Amino acid sequence: QAPIKLIDGKAAAARVLAEVSAEVRQMKAAGLAPGLAVVLVGQDPASQVYVRNKVLRAEECGIRSLEHKLPADTAEAELLQLIHTLNGDDSVNGILVQLPLPGHIDESRVLQAVSPLKDVDGFHAENVGGLSQGREVLTPCTPAGCLRLLEDTCGDLAGKHAVVIGRSNIVGKPMAALLLKAHCTVTVVHSKSANLKDLCRQADIVVAAVGRPRLVDAEWIKPGAVVIDVGINRIEEDGRSKLVGDVDFDSALAHAAAITPVPGGVGPMTIAFLMKNTLAAARLQHPAQPNL
Ligand code: NDP
Repeated sequence: QAPIKLIDGKAAAARVLAEVSAEVRQMKAAGLAPGLAVVLVGQDPASQVYVRNKVLRAEECGIRSLEHKLPADTAEAELLQLIHTLNGDDSVNGILVQLPLPGHIDESRVLQAVSPLKDVDGFHAENVGGLSQGREVLTPCTPAGCLRLLEDTCGDLAGKHAVVIGRSNIVGKPMAALLLKAHCTVTVVHSKSANLKDLCRQADIVVAAVGRPRLVDAEWIKPGAVVIDVGINRIEEDGRSKLVGDVDFDSALAHAAAITPVPGGVGPMTIAFLMKNTLAAARLQHPAQPNL
């Protein structure tokens, strides 16, 4: 059997960010300095880390980032007003509302309020619909990052059987739509699926986005399959806290031809594609400037 290939998400993300930095320079030369607004409501510690990383990454690429930190008890109307203002602000090309939002705020109403042309998370219904029609739209960052890793690893994906474990709006469903667009045969499985393991074992490509630590082991993996692990689960083990994926990495290595580690796999690609989406959004907002 060929040696196992570790899919290095950090290195892949660095390549994407280098592309972004070069495109930002080109945009600035054409007179447009791209800007990303990041909105954080409340003080969820994980969200604070994510937002900090996004802002840092944006600055490294030369994208101006504008942070809007609001208290946890912010009224929904006030948040909607901020989004409305950002929608109308020409210096803001991308708007990201960090999820989850506090319970008193209707998440879907907020996501629908973001202009589809500035929707760098790809969560607006117009972009979700566009993706399912196979149109070029702003696409959720995590599945877009997974697709790039798969293309880098496998080349042409046409005809491959991909099994996506999980059907969330953020990862599973858009992942399935992107794989379908790339001409894969796609099976989506979820918590109510029967014969999960058998279905998974037929896959050339497995994307696990479940949120269950180490659910997928070697028995789920066809020898030679490529495995993308989206899961980020914090567990206590050997007296310490650590991050593990939805795939039992050590076990899956026995069968996988290539696999992403956690951390250092999909995570860095998510942020890199947020930057890419910010530039894509800026271009959508300036259709008359083809040189951007
Ligand atoms: P959700 O909880 O929204 O969705 C999980 C999906 O997995 C659901 O469709 C659920 O099925 C399905 N599921 C749950 N348990 C099982 C099971 N035992 N067998 C089969 N399917 C099951 O999670 P997300 O999609 O938001 O995230 C998934 C994971 O990815 C999490 O660990 C999250 O932290 C991580 N993540 C990582 C990102 C990154 O940048 N690397 C970005 C986003 C998420 P059902 O629909 O029936 O309930």
